[in-house]
Amino acid sequence: MTDKVAIVTGGNKGIGYAIVDKLCSIFDGIIYLTARDEELGLKAVQQLQESNSDAKNKVKFHQLDITNVESIRRLADYIKKTHNGLNILINNAAIAFKANDVTPFGDQAEITAQTNFFGTINVCNALFPLLQDHARVVNISSRYKMLDSIKNAEIRQNLIAPDATIESVSDILSDFIKKAKQNSHEDDGYPASAYGMSKIALTAATIIQQRIFDDKPHRDIVVNACCPGYINTDMTSNKGTGTPEQGADTPVYLTTLEPNVKSPRGEFVAERKIVKWKC
Ligand code: NDP
Repeated sequence: MTDKVAIVTGGNKGIGYAIVDKLCSIFDGIIYLTARDEELGLKAVQQLQESNSDAKNKVKFHQLDITNVESIRRLADYIKKTHNGLNILINNAAIAFKANDVTPFGDQAEITAQTNFFGTINVCNALFPLLQDHARVVNISSRYKMLDSIKNAEIRQNLIAPDATIESVSDILSDFIKKAKQNSHEDDGYPASAYGMSKIALTAATIIQQRIFDDKPHRDIVVNACCPGYINTDMTSNKGTGTPEQGADTPVYLTTLEPNVKSPRGEFVAERKIVKWKC
């Protein structure tokens, strides 16, 4: 086996677990199933190794809580010490409050953004320096709220401006949290969904990440955002219409884009097709 390495965040269940399972049959390297809870992660690895013969030599566990910078640093240090670098990163881990959750909306906005956006960006910041040439990165976003669910045209434009940066997108999300705590987010044109806003910011960040990678085109590092579909998992209280295996299809497809692929690069993809995300 070559020293190729893939990392999947939030791999202990749902779509993340199905992604690791699917990667086993197509990826010739070590796949790190990561999870914030070590016991759940190790159990998931054991379950995979029992059900999928390819998983026996390929799937390993490493703890990763994407909201914990120490945990992120430990994973980055470990990969640096143990391998030549990283070939695939799938940012799958995320949270969503249930509709009937009584947590104040402002707190929901903050907690959701800390995981789905800021946590994911911190993982990228720590692991991107380890990416090998031709690496493929997938940020799992959502079609639940697209850019047009932001009613304020200025905010929309700022998110996708050619000179937008991860910092400027972070500032917009922080402003959303501030307004959510004041209960004025909708007056300012933000969507009424904390989860939706966190994923809009993540898709906007993906476009910026690709722009930065494209500064070194010879390295051919490609990042895309995608929607896995409406999938039957804990997140959807098992009300989704697709299976986790179906949800894993597009994210895994995006890891297989051929060398020097022209498109998709920095796009929003669903069902293996580029979806118009900007408006
Ligand atoms: P699940 O709730 O089933 O799984 C989420 C995974 O993320 C779990 O492994 C969970 O771990 C992990 N996670 C949450 N917080 C953290 C954290 N701080 N650090 C590390 N891991 C964490 O969700 P799905 O499988 O449905 O969702 C997977 C991805 O797909 C998410 O990004 C989601 O937003 C996206 N998505 C899902 C859709 C759907 O219909 N299901 C639709 C559109 C997008 P733990 O078990 O410890 O909680």
